[in-house]
Amino acid sequence: MQIKQLPEDFKQALPVLEEIEQAGFEAYFVGGSVRDHILGLPIHDVDIATSAYPEEIKKIFKRTIDTGIQHGTVTVLLNDASYEITTFRTESGYQDYRRPDKVTFVRSLADDLKRRDFTINALAVDLNGNVIDKFDGLKDLDKKIIRAVGQAEARFHEDALRMMRAVRFQAQLNFQIEAQTAQAVADNAPLLSKIAIERIREEFVKLLLSQSWKTGFADFLKLNLSEYCPGFKDQRVELSELLNAEGTFVDEDAAWTAIGYALNMNHPEFNRFLRDWKVSNKVREASVNSLDMLHLFENQDYDLWNIYKFGLDNFERVLQLCQMLQIEFDYVDLKQKVEQISIKNSHDLAITGKDICEILGVKPGPIIGKSMSQIERAVVEGNVYNNFDELRHYLLSNQ
Ligand code: ATP
Ligand code: MG
Repeated sequence: MQIKQLPEDFKQALPVLEEIEQAGFEAYFVGGSVRDHILGLPIHDVDIATSAYPEEIKKIFKRTIDTGIQHGTVTVLLNDASYEITTFRTESGYQDYRRPDKVTFVRSLADDLKRRDFTINALAVDLNGNVIDKFDGLKDLDKKIIRAVGQAEARFHEDALRMMRAVRFQAQLNFQIEAQTAQAVADNAPLLSKIAIERIREEFVKLLLSQSWKTGFADFLKLNLSEYCPGFKDQRVELSELLNAEGTFVDEDAAWTAIGYALNMNHPEFNRFLRDWKVSNKVREASVNSLDMLHLFENQDYDLWNIYKFGLDNFERVLQLCQMLQIEFDYVDLKQKVEQISIKNSHDLAITGKDICEILGVKPGPIIGKSMSQIERAVVEGNVYNNFDELRHYLLSNQ
């Protein structure tokens, strides 16, 4: 196959490939960008693979950065853009199921493609648009299939993260996992426990945020992967409830909140769970508050103050999630309530701690915080307008 019209991102990078070839080496576009372009999807980072060794690349180009030189990656800066160029390599001796003991630079493209995870990720394109397809990746793209390069079992033993990548690509592309590859995932799922949780999470979040997340999530459960993730052991039935959801998650916080809901977790359990997954503090806080808010709506025991307390920034997410999970509540009433709340957080108050000190004629101390909270609640509940004079009056008359 030849790509007649290279995409803009590839065209811009052509001078890089040309210079490498002029120096007597080979260079190709590889990996995700090739796959996505053939599928007609937008491409993000353009990866280039070459027969030149890193030191040789550094001699060809004036401006380079040693990005991951021990793995063969050098970043080349050319015409206001930067390109990651990686030397063809083979990997060997994966004794810990996650990292090769040895990376060897090689001169053969075929050897480099052989170490890649799936046939659809093992395509290369030369500067004339010719596609090099050693493992029938084009056919698998056409049939919408994710198939390991070589022996699936052996490939998952080398790097168990590939099993999570399989379900992630499934969700992103709406593909099916080929039968033998799927069987090898099911058989080797326990190896996932060897992989750092951060790496599993990265794939899992990409899966959940995909258009076809249910396709990937269904196999994540069916092929046993969930059993080896924090908090998911023996929870397949509960988690599979999520497959009844309608639509897609608006963000990572929404996805975690839905999971906390499916697992019927209370506040501390959910907090602990998110810590086990090592999600960022920001995501954890937003997700925990969102789940608390969702429970309020579900149990119809919301009022202005508790909605506000769990963060108005979370409100739209929780509403969308309730619809997605078909949780019933009085939408109109809720919207009306939220519209009544005149501030988003305490910074929006028309009075400061310093003002309170002056009005009450006291020095900074715990009383200020107490008065502030009292005022905040009164404003949220609509008992006083949020302007300075009204707040001053309220403060003096509630002493
Ligand atoms: P994305 O669209 O998420 O960037 P991608 O296919 O480009 O998808 P990357 O993680 O950026 O994925 O990796 C680039 C390429 O490197 C892949 O297409 C694949 O050929 C190879 N690769 C990445 N991770 C692995 C792995 N764990 N095992 C084998 N090959 C891998
Ligand atoms: Mg990529």
